[in-house]
Parts: sequence; structure tokens; C-alpha cells
Amino acid sequence: MELSYILNHLAEERDQYFGAIAPPIIQTSNFAVKTIDELRNLFADESSGYLYSRGMNPTVDILRKKLAALDEAEDCLVFNSGAAAIFCSVIPFIQNGDHIISVKNPYSWAQKCFDLFLPKFGVHTSYVDGKNVENFQNAIRENTKIIYLESPNSWDYAIQDLSLLAQLARSKNIMTICDNSYCSPIYQKPIAMGIDISIQSATKYIGGHSDTVAGVLCGSHEHIRGIFQLEYLLAGNGIQAFNAWLLLRGLRTLPARLDRLQNSMNKVMDGLRNHPAIDRMIFPFDATFPQYSLAKKQMSGACGLMTLVLKERRQKKIEQFCERLETFLIAVSWGGHESLVIPRCAGIQPDDFNPDDESHRMVRFYIGLEEPDYLLKDMLRGLDQLDQRQ
Ligand SMILES: *Cc1c(COP(=O)(O)O)cnc(C)c1O
Repeated sequence: MELSYILNHLAEERDQYFGAIAPPIIQTSNFAVKTIDELRNLFADESSGYLYSRGMNPTVDILRKKLAALDEAEDCLVFNSGAAAIFCSVIPFIQNGDHIISVKNPYSWAQKCFDLFLPKFGVHTSYVDGKNVENFQNAIRENTKIIYLESPNSWDYAIQDLSLLAQLARSKNIMTICDNSYCSPIYQKPIAMGIDISIQSATKYIGGHSDTVAGVLCGSHEHIRGIFQLEYLLAGNGIQAFNAWLLLRGLRTLPARLDRLQNSMNKVMDGLRNHPAIDRMIFPFDATFPQYSLAKKQMSGACGLMTLVLKERRQKKIEQFCERLETFLIAVSWGGHESLVIPRCAGIQPDDFNPDDESHRMVRFYIGLEEPDYLLKDMLRGLDQLDQRQ
């Protein structure tokens, strides 16, 4: 299916709503039926029609169809957050006594799910360095049910070979789940590479305007149907009509925004290259990236996030560098108009700061939709100041 068709036409039935070009927000909690028979059928299978907006809703349906098509998946569910999508991708496939293998350093709430929540129910997780497929192979046990991936990671952009891992997991009857938030389905299609379930935080690029929190879970008809019937309805964490509409609005400009971000990123990186205050620049589509060839093989693009490892060894100076930037806001998340910055040390207690660990000297940038020169000037000013103080 062509991208433009998905974004503009798929699932839009404009003759049903006055020819309106923008999709309708069906802001209702419940739906009326004509007969008790209809109601009985909906009770038996809530996915068969409109009963109650905790389950199915027409605005959400338009979004689901478009997001599934973008991911080349049979179906999808949309949640109130990426964290909820992570939770509902894992829970259905495990029971007491099972084992999960996760790539190391997954998104913080995935890690909390594995470390703090699942052990209460007898499910334990091993973490492996994802750069080597053998690490997963060696960690597989008889009770391993899920291989959990995040490619690229959203700090150091470490990636995993998705096709090879999907093959390995299939041969052992293990489910694969991949967090695709960094790329979005525009730049990477895990399901087409054999991954069972692809999730992403739609808060980032799909929403695109820093005004909605949402998450997407794509997979086969069978998996989505099962998750809908239990976890989705039970958690009651499905996206509601207005937020779904905000995501539909974001989708219209998604490729245009990502193009712009990609261009700006190239300009900014070229402007920073070889700056004396920078130890290393990390970006998956930069030729110096250690897994560059694998990135090029399985991703069709990379855009907004880039990390600098600074030479500066004093935590205070790294923090000041971030605080003194004038065009970047200090904030988590990414994907909106506004450029953002966050130092890794914000998550580290001062006593634990260790400048010999290069990850402690990382500063992550989201290069947003502003003019790239405007951002670059500010970054260079801050880096020059750092350099003079060495
Ligand atoms: C932001 C993020 C999430 C969580 O999404 P929310 O919408 O914030 O709940 C999950 N994974 C990655 C990689 C993220 O960056």
C-alpha cells in the first residue's frame, strides 16, 4: 500500500460524514442498538461492532487501520501511552515460571516491568548485550517465552539484527517483541522482518506536537484479537476519540516532518564534526557508528535523536552546558516541534557520577523542526565555552 494512500485515504469514509476532509471525533462513551439480539452479539464479541468506547470507537478504528498498514501488520491496538503498549505486549504471553530475554538497557518502564513487577508473578528476565545474536541464543532456556528488543536504543542507538533474531526465536517457538519508537514505522518495519509484535510510543513522532501521550501495538489478527478481548478491555487503557484524532492529524504530516528532521540532523552533525569539546558523536546513520552497516541494512532512515559524548569530565559543567543552551528546552521525550536536550547524568546520583564511564558524559539532543542554523549556532556557542574551560 502506498504511504500517501494510507495517510490520506485508508479507512476514511467521507461520504458517511458530510464529505468532511478531516476525520470525525466520535466523542461518545456508548452506542445504542436497535435490538436485544444485537446487544447479545456485542456481548459475545465486543470487537464485532460498537458497544462502548473502552473497546471499539469509530475514530480510533480509522487510526488503527492506518497504523496497522504503516507497520505492514494485520491489525493494531492504540493505548494511552507507550508504556501501556509495552505492558500489554508482554503480559498476554507469559505465566508463572516463564522466562524472558531482554536486550540490555531497554526503555525504563519496560525494565521496571521486568525487574519490579513480573518477578511478583514468578516471571524472570535475563538481559543480554544485543549486538551479538549468539548472546540471545546462549540465554535461551526451556521456559523462555519472549525475546524483548528495542532497536535502536534511545540513548546510544545500539541495534539488534531483527531478521536473524526473529528466525532464531521462531525456530524455538519464542515470541519476539520490538520497541520501534526511535524509527517509527516510516523508517523501520519490524513485522516485515519477522518480529511478532511491534510497539512504539506514538507520543513521539506520530503525535508530533508534544500534546498527546499514546502507544501503538501491532501484530497478527490472532494476537491482536486475544489482547483486545482480555488485556485491552481489562486495563481500560485504550486511546479515546479526541487523542486518536490528534494522532490522525499528526499522521498527515509525519513523512514531511521526518524528512525535515533528517535534513536538519545532517546539517547540525556536519557543523559539529571534529569540535574539540566532543569526544564522540553517536547517530545510527553516521559512518562512524559501530553498527553502521546493520543500521543501513534494516532501517531506511534515522532522524531526530543524536547523542554527544562530551570530553568534559565535571558533572556540574555538563549540566551548565545544557542549562545555558538558549534554543533547546530541557525535557524528556521527543518528536515535537521544539528541540530538546537531556544529559545522562540527570538520571545519576552525584555520588555515582563516574567520568571514566563514557555514558555518564552523554548529552542527548532532539533536533526539532526549527531552522538548523539557529540550533547549530547555539550548540557551537555552548561547546566553545566548554572547550575554553577545559
Ligand atoms: C517514550 C518511550 C516509550 C514510552 O512511551 P510513552 O508514550 O511515554 O509511555 C517507550 N519506549 C521508548 C523507546 C520511548 O522512547
